[in-house]
Amino acid sequence: MECMRCGAGTKLVQLVDPGPGGCPICARAKPKSIWDSEKMCVVDCYVCPQCGHIELTASKPELFRDI
Ligand SMILES: [Zn+2]
Repeated sequence: MECMRCGAGTKLVQLVDPGPGGCPICARAKPKSIWDSEKMCVVDCYVCPQCGHIELTASKPELFRDI
């Protein structure tokens, strides 16, 4: 992916909780009803090594189409 600020090539890194567990950061939507399941996916983080700009994207955006 290209950096939106400076145009350099960005790198995909993992966005994690800085706590002892170090769990990946996720996007989550609560279920609409008891028959629905919770929607959750990992957040991809693209960092620009030139200017430090960070872009976040949901790894599975299609999960949130009908929330
Ligand atoms: Zn940049």
